[in-house]
Amino acid sequence: MTLIHESHSDTAAPLRETAIQAHGIEMAYQVGDHAFKALKGIDLEIQTGDIELLMGPSGSGKTTLLSILGGILTPTAGEITLLGQKITGLSRRRLAKFRLQNIGFIFQGFNLFPALTAAENIEATLNLKGIRGRAAKKTALKLLKQVDLADKRHNLPRDLSGGQKQRVAIARALAGNPRLILADEPTAALDSQIGHTIMELLRRLAQEEGCTVLMVTHDPRIQDIADRVVYVEDGLIIPQQPANFSAPKPEVQYP
Ligand code: ADP
Ligand code: MG
Repeated sequence: MTLIHESHSDTAAPLRETAIQAHGIEMAYQVGDHAFKALKGIDLEIQTGDIELLMGPSGSGKTTLLSILGGILTPTAGEITLLGQKITGLSRRRLAKFRLQNIGFIFQGFNLFPALTAAENIEATLNLKGIRGRAAKKTALKLLKQVDLADKRHNLPRDLSGGQKQRVAIARALAGNPRLILADEPTAALDSQIGHTIMELLRRLAQEEGCTVLMVTHDPRIQDIADRVVYVEDGLIIPQQPANFSAPKPEVQYP
């Protein structure tokens, strides 16, 4: 008989996998003939199943950090390991595959396909993940129900409001049960009722499915459901909420 796991003491807390490990992350944007350092050395660890928030003033580097953690942007320095897989140095193809299989992005830049209906937008993502046909249709409808949009499933994006498009994008990000959700101000365009529904949904995913959620938000109400708030200021993580912290208005505008 082979012993696969060495057992720790009976009283030891169950080991939780680290969902996100980032070390020494720096990001310099080239602006004209000089480099602008948007991130100046970020270390961050996030445990599986946590909901964590990134907060900080406009321009502090939150979107840059989230994009780097999700493998959309390559940092100028530092290393990232997601779900036990080191993504730094992966080829573009393997990185794209890893993202598709593991990460749900709720980003302003991830636009819906204009020629596809709400349901088809989600089905297209499911198809990419190997879920096809009737199974994809059924799952897409279930996801649209979760964001309270089942009745708009046949609408094209141009026939949806900004908030409704955002909800389709959220449903699409959840398609195929990603283990990691990265969201940049996901509730900015939503009224408080539906914003609350979305937050409950994310919390349930984290608690029941062990999904890890990292979210940029300015909404102080969301702090109640978070396991931790990480504050970013001037390209660095600061240890706690500064005394003069006041949440700025959402900077993201959804068309
Ligand atoms: P936040 O999301 O906290 O508002 P960002 O990550 O968007 O901050 O931006 C951090 C800093 O980097 C800002 O000063 C911003 O102007 C700059 N920046 C962001 N993206 C670029 C880019 N593509 N080129 C040059 N500078 C950028
Ligand atoms: Mg931003």
